[in-house]
Amino acid sequence: MTDREKMISSVLERWRSCPYPAPKTARRGKPHTTVDLSGLSEENIRLRDEFYMSCAIELGRCAASVGEIPVGALIVCGGEIIAADFNGRETEKNALYHAECAVIDKACRALGGWRLPGCELYVTLEPCIMCAGGVISSRLPRVIFGSNDPKGGFFGSVADATAFGLNHKPVITKGILERECGELLREFFQRKRENP
Ligand SMILES: [Zn+2]
Repeated sequence: MTDREKMISSVLERWRSCPYPAPKTARRGKPHTTVDLSGLSEENIRLRDEFYMSCAIELGRCAASVGEIPVGALIVCGGEIIAADFNGRETEKNALYHAECAVIDKACRALGGWRLPGCELYVTLEPCIMCAGGVISSRLPRVIFGSNDPKGGFFGSVADATAFGLNHKPVITKGILERECGELLREFFQRKRENP
């Protein structure tokens, strides 16, 4: 097990079982499975989103602890976390190693296919153009993010990937634990300024 895998599994140990009911997944003609939130109360949806975002924040802290810009992400499918990771551009020496792309890659392996039906992606920061592309390419039905990225966000900030009439349009929920997610980045850059 790599150090990265060890860090991820120790975070997941604490967040494996979500106390809030999961949404049903609805089949809209194979393989376009959506995440159907209609059976859940708004309160349930919010508490559940905050639960998983708290886990993503802890994954972001793992990134900060190894000197990476702190962004954490995970994918939930059928009430289970099937993929979790954090930004690894520096440590993995790879421009494509954003947290979201890493979890999309892992989720495809876990489900055994390129489509991610019935999955939800939680990420602390608004996805960039590449990761928004990954969401659309994998047909991920729902994305939940914490803070906006005014310089690179592609789900509403710089542009909105759901507004181009592409063949897949994920449902986006933004602003979940926004303050905490933003704080994670602010603290990281402040520490960096103090100890360059
Ligand atoms: Zn990205």
